[in-house]
Amino acid sequence: MPIDPRAPYDDGNVFARILRGEIPCRKVYEDDFALAFHDIAPQAPVHVLVIPKGPYVSWDDFSAKAEAAEIAGFVRAVGTVARELGLVEPGYRMLANVGQHGHQEVPHLHVHLFGGRQFYAMVP
Ligand code: 5GP
Repeated sequence: MPIDPRAPYDDGNVFARILRGEIPCRKVYEDDFALAFHDIAPQAPVHVLVIPKGPYVSWDDFSAKAEAAEIAGFVRAVGTVARELGLVEPGYRMLANVGQHGHQEVPHLHVHLFGGRQFYAMVP
């Protein structure tokens, strides 16, 4: 079910629990600002989620409230993960679903990184 984008941050969401080490994940990267791990139900040969360490519901929440250092650190981490996974050549897709119309299901900001195959034009 898509999340309610107006709801306050839910500390019990699955990615908050992964950040606290309460639920295991297949970690690929971690620094002061971000954690990256394989998606549990991959939609491509490479499907990794990158999440900020702070309590942000969505891209909207993060872009409005995060400190500049957190934003810079997170954006750099997404790029670092893509490079470390060898995705830059021949390329990859990244996206963040936001709220109900975006069909966001987990209420902690996450950027999907997809790679390892050809992707096609986005269908609205
Ligand atoms: P959304 O639809 O919110 O953009 O994407 C949520 C993603 O989180 C989905 O691709 C889903 O497979 C993934 N996911 C949900 N629960 C877990 C989990 O417990 N572990 C991992 N690694 N991924 C999860």
